Amino acid sequence: MPKIKLLLTGVFKPFGVSDAYGEALCTMELLNNQVTREQGIHSPRQNNPSFGLYLLAENIMAPATVLDFPTWKEFTKEIRNGNYTHVGISFIVPNVLKAARMANYVRKHSPATKILLGGHGAAIPNLREHVDYDEVCRGEGVRWLRTYFNEPHQERAIIHPVIPSSVRKYIYGAPISDKGAIILPGVGCQNSCRFCATAHKFEKQYTSFLREGSDLFAACRKSEEAMGTEDFSLMDENFCKMPVRAAALLAEMEANKKAYTFSIFSSAEAITRMGVDFLVRMGVNFVWIGVESKWNIFEKTKGVDLHALIKDIQDHGITVLASTILFMEHHDKRTIEEDIDWAIGLESDVLQFMQFGPIPGTRLYHDYEVEGKLLMDIPYPEQHGQDKIWFHHPNFTLQDTSRILKEAFERKYKTHGPGILSMAHTAVRGYLRVREDIAFNEKNGLAWDSALLKYVPTPNSGPDEFMLLRLESWRQYALRFRPMFWSAEAYAPNGAAREKAKMVARLFDEAFGKPDAGDIAKSAALRLLAWKENLHLQIRKAMGLGDIMRQPATVRQEYADRRGTTATPVDREKKKKRPHSVAAAAR
Ligand code: SF4
Repeated sequence: MPKIKLLLTGVFKPFGVSDAYGEALCTMELLNNQVTREQGIHSPRQNNPSFGLYLLAENIMAPATVLDFPTWKEFTKEIRNGNYTHVGISFIVPNVLKAARMANYVRKHSPATKILLGGHGAAIPNLREHVDYDEVCRGEGVRWLRTYFNEPHQERAIIHPVIPSSVRKYIYGAPISDKGAIILPGVGCQNSCRFCATAHKFEKQYTSFLREGSDLFAACRKSEEAMGTEDFSLMDENFCKMPVRAAALLAEMEANKKAYTFSIFSSAEAITRMGVDFLVRMGVNFVWIGVESKWNIFEKTKGVDLHALIKDIQDHGITVLASTILFMEHHDKRTIEEDIDWAIGLESDVLQFMQFGPIPGTRLYHDYEVEGKLLMDIPYPEQHGQDKIWFHHPNFTLQDTSRILKEAFERKYKTHGPGILSMAHTAVRGYLRVREDIAFNEKNGLAWDSALLKYVPTPNSGPDEFMLLRLESWRQYALRFRPMFWSAEAYAPNGAAREKAKMVARLFDEAFGKPDAGDIAKSAALRLLAWKENLHLQIRKAMGLGDIMRQPATVRQEYADRRGTTATPVDREKKKKRPHSVAAAAR
């Protein structure tokens, strides 16, 4: 077999600073960048690992190293000393200049090394004009990489990696110790919304990595054993779109008495079909729903009463992140304000405003290119959806788009206060509601029917042991928020938010009893750190320096050569003892 040594790398830091390669508003932070934006120190801070790199490294037989969040110096040292035959660089469109610099360095200092490109940035048209490369991966990467290295594909199951869902987590200037793991059930979405980069990258098809509920459960168990977590983010564009697999996962948890909790992405129509009782029983405590626009122009929201659905979900303790799009074709100065008001009026806990954007590879990009609407002079690093749009819109100037977006986030913040407070409110309301529902079901002889996915009259049903475990998981989840109330109140944007902080704190007292000495100490420590963080933030603002940017730690993880072994992937999986340095990075 030819000698292969592969480096899989993300782009180099720093992120969220304006320099020759990046842009201050592209922070590589999901929440602070585009969900809890403009919420100052109330905004949770975190980075997400480059999940795909770990999945790829785990699923090829050739030896590989993953380098995530490297500095430029670390990356160049790795290239000089690593003797890599292949370097794979994953990047998104706004990071294309970083990818180009990395590729140039590889060419110059290791000319025999093949350069492979992947990620959403690989869809940039005429890519070679921007980045030097040998091969580009479009579509699903595991199959592509196995084929590229002439490794057998068909008979090999996917080995799920252990990866923290986020790293470098902070709130109010204090590091968060909660651990969560990412689970990758599959990629792509058949809904094929015209603007959606993910759907188009995976050819408008869903590719399943974990086909059965038992596969999903095994991946959760593996991460639980490695990281000690029972909380998982399911990185799947539309998890409820596969109801049989979701129901089977629940059945596995019930059989094994594991009340895991999950964050999911799901479309409104898919959630409606599964029902809120199912989501609660499965342990979904956070759901991302694309609501997009009050004009319901996408199939996924047609016929769904979004107000009622979101309220029902939140009443059961599930945080809702609603996502909406600004500067669509039907928007003018009046209708965009109506859409912003409508989206805020949905009263989701947190709300993403994202700019409509023709992303390379999508049908929208193709249409706008044909129609000559693309503004070719906007550099790629600025095409991230959180500043100016990069296409001609008849009703808005570019400055309008930047201002309206910022004001939309500010309006949401001033209307409902910090998102973290709304999440706490939802969590405690849900705990009380689920406790009531359990008592009601027991009193009325209702038991869960796993075929019908609802509670039905059942003779001699007895106590619902699994829901009692679930209630405890809801209690623990809610109590994570308790130390934050004092800081939320102290730095509230207005009187209404201050009152909300007091009201939520009272509700916690009613549900869980008064805070004990430990709670008070945590709250006081957080308040001190929040004071320091706020001072730091105000000084930066006064100096025109923008947000506080903490950079994620570098992760370097080696994967051994597994070629020539006769063991099946599952056997190897049982035997191997590999350091999970990425898991360590989450701590
Ligand atoms: S439903 Fe969501 S993930 Fe699926 S195509 Fe539409 S925007 Fe993309």
